[in-house]
Amino acid sequence: MTDPASPLVLATNNTGKLRELRRLLATHPWRVLSLAEAGWAGELLEPGETYAENGLAKAAAVSAGLNLSALADDSGIEVDALRGWPGPSSARWMGPDATDEERLAGLIAEVDRRSPDDRRVRYVCVVALVRPVAEPVLARGECLGTLVAPRGTRGFGYDPAFLSGDLGITFGEADDAAKDAVSHRARALQRLAESGVLDPAPERA
Ligand code: IMP
Repeated sequence: MTDPASPLVLATNNTGKLRELRRLLATHPWRVLSLAEAGWAGELLEPGETYAENGLAKAAAVSAGLNLSALADDSGIEVDALRGWPGPSSARWMGPDATDEERLAGLIAEVDRRSPDDRRVRYVCVVALVRPVAEPVLARGECLGTLVAPRGTRGFGYDPAFLSGDLGITFGEADDAAKDAVSHRARALQRLAESGVLDPAPERA
């Protein structure tokens, strides 16, 4: 029997994002592939200064390289009192070799030092869908929270320190369903779905 679903390659090397995107796309009629499953060995560059530029660049590179549809997520955490820093550079601001744990501790130290009384943060996610024969489509999602001392071991990246305003617990404490009900990534994909590009079944690639 042939698989009726078109392939959709997730243009990310971040295993946390990959897991969440797979869950969030599970109800849509695509055959979701990681870069490894699709046979992509190229580099994923983030040449821009905005989520949109970087998301588009990653999805476009993978889509063009494989001649398949590709979806990228560019995201970050923004500290309100620091005018949105680190934002699109959330993965890189401590240098290329820092671990998630080091970035998390570093962000808390930075906020303790520069804005101890205003700890409001937001997660922002822009998803970019690039298909071989259609215009690219972008969608954005946000969720609000407070930066706190880390609690919980779920999620990835800054999640243990992100006290969700929607949930009242950190994303490190939230189970998959709870995070997926309110996350910036879920909201961006919801917006993308509302634009009609994820359903009904896409044309065969
Ligand atoms: P990029 O989109 O690959 O540039 O990386 C986004 C970075 O933002 C990640 O490496 C994390 O540090 C952070 N980030 C984005 N979304 C989340 C999330 O859902 N949980 C935790 N950290 C996140």
